[in-house]
Amino acid sequence: MTEEIDADILIVGAGGAGLLAALHALEISRKLKIVIAVKGLLGQSGCTRMVQGGYNAVLNPNDSLDRHFADTIKGGAWINHQELAWKLVEEAPRRIIELENKAGCLFDRNPDGTIHQKAFAGQSFDRTVHRGDLTGIEIMSNLRDSILESDIRVLQECRGVELLNGDGRIGGALLLDIRNGRLIVVRAKATLLATGGGATMYRISSPSLEKSGDGMAMAYRAGATFVDMEMLQFHPTGLLVGDSIATGGLLEEGLRGAGARLYNGLGERFMERYDPNKLERATRDVISRSSYLEIAAGRGSPANGIFLDASHLGEDFLKENFPGMVERCADYGFDLLHDRVEVSPSAHYQMGGVRIDVDCRTSLEGLFVAGEDAGGVHGANRLGGNGVADSIVFGGRAGDTMADYVLGRELSKTQVDGSRWERPDGSNGENPFALRKELENLMWEKVGVVRRGGDLESALAELEALAERVDRTNVDSLPAWNAALDAANLIVVGKMVARSALIRSESRGAHFREDFPSSDSAWLKNIVLKPDGSFECEPVCFSRLTPL
Ligand SMILES: Cc1cc2nc3c(=O)[nH]c(=O)nc-3n(C[C@H](O)[C@H](O)[C@H](O)COP(=O)(O)OP(=O)(O)OC[C@H]3O[C@@H](n4cnc5c(N)ncnc54)[C@H](O)[C@@H]3O)c2cc1C
Repeated sequence: MTEEIDADILIVGAGGAGLLAALHALEISRKLKIVIAVKGLLGQSGCTRMVQGGYNAVLNPNDSLDRHFADTIKGGAWINHQELAWKLVEEAPRRIIELENKAGCLFDRNPDGTIHQKAFAGQSFDRTVHRGDLTGIEIMSNLRDSILESDIRVLQECRGVELLNGDGRIGGALLLDIRNGRLIVVRAKATLLATGGGATMYRISSPSLEKSGDGMAMAYRAGATFVDMEMLQFHPTGLLVGDSIATGGLLEEGLRGAGARLYNGLGERFMERYDPNKLERATRDVISRSSYLEIAAGRGSPANGIFLDASHLGEDFLKENFPGMVERCADYGFDLLHDRVEVSPSAHYQMGGVRIDVDCRTSLEGLFVAGEDAGGVHGANRLGGNGVADSIVFGGRAGDTMADYVLGRELSKTQVDGSRWERPDGSNGENPFALRKELENLMWEKVGVVRRGGDLESALAELEALAERVDRTNVDSLPAWNAALDAANLIVVGKMVARSALIRSESRGAHFREDFPSSDSAWLKNIVLKPDGSFECEPVCFSRLTPL
């Protein structure tokens, strides 16, 4: 049985980007009928809630937008879309005020009452706004409350499965209620994808597990254009906790900033070999790569990781400055205060994604994208603190744009073939959970921290084979069906990552090719992937800042 809902705006995904979009659109017109579909629970799902470190914004008169912009572009190894990056920097301060004054968030204060800002890697000024080390919870709890106080309809535990096409534009989406297997058609004049990427396609990853590249896969199937899909960030210190879902959960960067050290399985402080000046304060990509190479060379820890040691910083210092990290380690039987903790690089964030303009429009009429599903803002590397700012800034912009876009428009006559999405019969196929594991291992080994042309080619062939097999998995229960849909979407995204990684025959930012270990200025280009299988390498447009 399929339920049908008509709306002005459909928002798929309810992290920072989705919720800000809804609130902004509503502020423009209280009459708008807005529907949010979220795969998890409102306010409890996605990565915005997991934000520990904080949100970058220029608030101090001694800082400047130009400095934040330059940090972002240098961090992105010069291939960011500069106008998107500028919007991020320009609007981030305004949104902080909005989060406090409208949504009711309260960030940490200096003694004089101004907002406290802390240092974060890659930044020339202390500009990271935070609420202790639980910034994401502060933001999401308040945004959720604002949504609950409104007339916005929220469909919880409903996943977007396919975009609807009609009259040559995107006209809503087909949803699946994952609690009972019911399909729901939402016809909408404007549709936003804000499902937060798919870094969970790797064996070790940090994002919340319900995120499985759904938005990107839906956009791909609908014919959207993607940019720089090879750019996937690995965080250097994800916890290793065996088969637990806690594996990949992060120990925050501030620990290394404060002086924590990294050792290999032989007890060597290996960063002395890779970056003798910055050591553990080197950037995320350098440390992740160095750790990966140590592990690959057989010098890893017993669980195939490396060790993080903060014990010399002292019990009092750690308890005062990193209470969340001390507690997280203790929860899994590690003693951060007195002992070494086993960690590994952990797939963390997709810089690549659907190509958008500064108003979150895509190449498809009626389709808008914001947050981690969109590409271009962060180039080849995202700075810590710029991720949540991105979701809040571009979520707000998407809401503004969509509210304008729907004015005076009719719903399109969408063609819905729900039968294509009914749960298939049959229980003879292979286990989708096992297939997903296979995918994660493949991505980790052949499309991971260190890449090689031959591996990428064989990964692409294996991904094709997985794509065929996933259609024949055993989906005789709702969780199995859900797992098969997740795996199918991750394969779509994984193929784009592998393809783009094969095309970029250089190393830049988070993308490291062992067969092309240097950056090449001829590659100051964006890789644009089109759904018809073609691609273009477009020279970066240095609209504001040019590399020296
Ligand atoms: C552990 C961790 C710590 C981080 N710390 C920081 C930090 O300190 N500073 C910083 O700037 N960034 C940080 N980040 C990155 C930051 O969290 C992201 O950049 C940002 O939150 C992404 O926001 P989003 O709105 O795009 O997606 P998310 O907040 O991830 O939300 C995605 C939403 O989409 C929903 N969804 C997924 N699939 C579907 C579907 N098919 N249908 C419907 N809904 C769907 C999810 O349930 C969720 O509600 C961190 C990330 C992690 C994992």
